[in-house]
Amino acid sequence: MLNTDWLFFQQALLGWYRPDRRPMPWKAIKDPYAIWLSEIILQQTRVEQGLPYFERFVAAYPTVVDLAAAEDDAVMKLWEGLGYYSRARNLLKAARMVTAEHDGAFPDTYAGLRTLPGIGPYTAAAIASFAFDRQVAVLDGNVFRILARFMNDSTPIDTGKGRKHYEALVSSALGATQARTFNQAIMDFGALVCTPRKASCHQCPLADQCASLVAGTVYDRPVKEKKLKRRSRYFHFLVVSDRKGNTIIEQRGEGDIWQALYQFPLIEVDRDGLTTEALPQQDGWPDWLPADQLKLTRRSPPFKQQLTHQTIVAVFHHFTYPELPGEIVGRQVVKNKMFSNIAFPRVITKYLADKTLLLDLF
Ligand code: SF4
Repeated sequence: MLNTDWLFFQQALLGWYRPDRRPMPWKAIKDPYAIWLSEIILQQTRVEQGLPYFERFVAAYPTVVDLAAAEDDAVMKLWEGLGYYSRARNLLKAARMVTAEHDGAFPDTYAGLRTLPGIGPYTAAAIASFAFDRQVAVLDGNVFRILARFMNDSTPIDTGKGRKHYEALVSSALGATQARTFNQAIMDFGALVCTPRKASCHQCPLADQCASLVAGTVYDRPVKEKKLKRRSRYFHFLVVSDRKGNTIIEQRGEGDIWQALYQFPLIEVDRDGLTTEALPQQDGWPDWLPADQLKLTRRSPPFKQQLTHQTIVAVFHHFTYPELPGEIVGRQVVKNKMFSNIAFPRVITKYLADKTLLLDLF
């Protein structure tokens, strides 16, 4: 592509850009902590959903040093509902690293930012350009889409080679324009004009030179090589309570989803349609739980949670047990009224929020 085309691209994009079209927390500030926080919170989260979380985090932890000193459980609780809990764990790790190794000051280069846990190429470019005016372009889903469409480029975006190709393209597109403004403009443009399913091509300032518009391939771009395969997992949670309003919970371990979050004792099977009566015969039924002393009070309908590579189908079996054992290794007995203070995965909070299923828990 000739340089003049990028000149057109830059002029059209920056001519279209107005900061107030899409107010975002990082637009008015240059504080790397707040920019970083908002970027991490808004990854894979809709802006309307993420903004209240951002505000709560800044209020609870006004500086990176405050966040570094926070209790892990308190941060997980504040994060509850956003999903992708590894982001919250990395948030804490990065805050502690900035505090311990950088005296509470974020590294001010792209390469320096990339050394922090949870800061990938996109977030590093965003912080480096927004907070430190570094000349580096962001490359995220919006940018892949805009470039692939504008160029009618069928290079797959999900391969190492493809990524390098688009990194080179976006650097050319950025050219000598101010990265801070260019990055904000291209992200807004992807969110408001060149959107995934309903692109506003008829009002688009790039339309005159948009190759996929001419070729009729707008919705075939960008191209992905690997189609996402999701596996289903069937979770049966044992909600075991006594008559005094206590229930048994446990903390999830490492090496799987929802690390360090809490749950009810779980039996996982690889197929749908397991009856409650068949549960005690499954691998994973707890030794400390005598099936003949339990009374089933309710079985929930299935609750689904979609993760990137997995579909979780959860059924909750609610039992009463005359007297809960005082101590069970690896598990805790908690008052049901404390549930709102405990960090559960989203599928459990959805179940707990469904009062029609929980009349005898509250
Ligand atoms: S013309 Fe349509 S596809 Fe091309 S850049 Fe504009 S909005 Fe995107």
